[in-house]
Amino acid sequence: MSKATLERGLNAFREQIDAPTATFFSSCVSCGMCAEACLFYTETGDPKYTPIHKLEPMRRIWEQEYTLVGKIKRVLGMEQPVTDAMLEEWQELLYDSCTLCGRCSMVCPVGNDITYMIRKAREGMVASGNAPDGVKGAATRAVNIGSPMGVTIKALRAQIRHIEADTGLSIPVDVEGADYMALLSSMEIMNFPEYIAALGKIFKQAGVSWTLASEAFEATNSGIQIGSSDIARELVERIVDAADKLKVKYVISPECGHAYTAIRWEGPNLVGRPYPFKVIHILELLDELRKTGRIKTEGLEKDRMTFHDPCSIVRKGGVVESPRNLMKMVTSNFVEMADHGKWNWCCGGGGGVSSNEDADELRIQVFRRKKGQIEDTGANTLVTACANCRLVIEEGLEEYSVDMPVLGLTELVADHLVVDEEEG
Ligand code: SF4
Ligand code: SF4
Repeated sequence: MSKATLERGLNAFREQIDAPTATFFSSCVSCGMCAEACLFYTETGDPKYTPIHKLEPMRRIWEQEYTLVGKIKRVLGMEQPVTDAMLEEWQELLYDSCTLCGRCSMVCPVGNDITYMIRKAREGMVASGNAPDGVKGAATRAVNIGSPMGVTIKALRAQIRHIEADTGLSIPVDVEGADYMALLSSMEIMNFPEYIAALGKIFKQAGVSWTLASEAFEATNSGIQIGSSDIARELVERIVDAADKLKVKYVISPECGHAYTAIRWEGPNLVGRPYPFKVIHILELLDELRKTGRIKTEGLEKDRMTFHDPCSIVRKGGVVESPRNLMKMVTSNFVEMADHGKWNWCCGGGGGVSSNEDADELRIQVFRRKKGQIEDTGANTLVTACANCRLVIEEGLEEYSVDMPVLGLTELVADHLVVDEEEG
């Protein structure tokens, strides 16, 4: 790597060291509590995976450039400056071994937001050319094609045609003046198109006026995952522009964890203005439709079912009760996992980890935590509400030879809708 690239990366780190970051570094008391909250440490026992250690390059830049002690240490050669080799070594720690799940930030006794700092450190990694190829590829496809998996509007239209032919439903696209604009994740389009069918079925019964937007159907924000605010902003702008053009009142975040935090909580700051619409997660909307009697279900699943809380929707997004209300509407034997709700453990594939092939082996290793938790419930079906979690969990269960179906919650609700008598 050239000296100029390293300098650009170091500058990016310097720019990211804002007042909260400096305060977090200076208040860390090295208690180690964040380590016990991070599955990459608990499942490997390797001290390099402690959350605070993952931030060492940024901590070093902060200390050596912004504190007297650090400057003295540097002059006396007590601590080495950050080099190319160090950034290269840290690629694994910042990308393969962090899902941005936020569990470490919850336990820190001095209130350090470690996830926030990891996001900032990733900005420096991108600028110095140290992001992994898999994540770079996903971000490039998101910008150039419109989706991290390379799904085009043509591919979506083809899926819609199949769904319409199979179900007799009509899936609206580019309907100006609809109340709700639904977003999808590529994984739903390609791996779980039943989610789109479920939306069509539920919204038809509830009389919800909705549409998809051909210019912004993708909710995944690869800019957040790779750590590039510029890419993240561009992807949010696309959604804001499409919603503006179609004059919708609400944008619905799909069953995708980080897409929800990206569009709802980070988006307005990224684009620098409030939205002219509201953002609602699909589970919040379904719960609202349940509460107001607009969706009617019948029959209860008798299987013992448990729910995996996607970190970004539940811990970081605050959508805790809605999935439980919906589970109770359609199941009679719902059982909670240990550490459920805001204390859940990650599936191991969030924050861009699942789009990063370098991380595959580690991801499968740390999945043992989730596998153990699922098995301890005695459930025979797992339900979740994030296409990424769903795929990661399916793959993990397969790897450990656990035979258990994994369902999406929206789809489960749709399966229990009372059939319109006129239709028959
Ligand atoms: S955000 Fe989650 S995965 Fe990342 S360091 Fe913290 S606990 Fe570990
Ligand atoms: S929990 Fe907080 S104070 Fe303790 S080591 Fe981690 S970052 Fe530092």
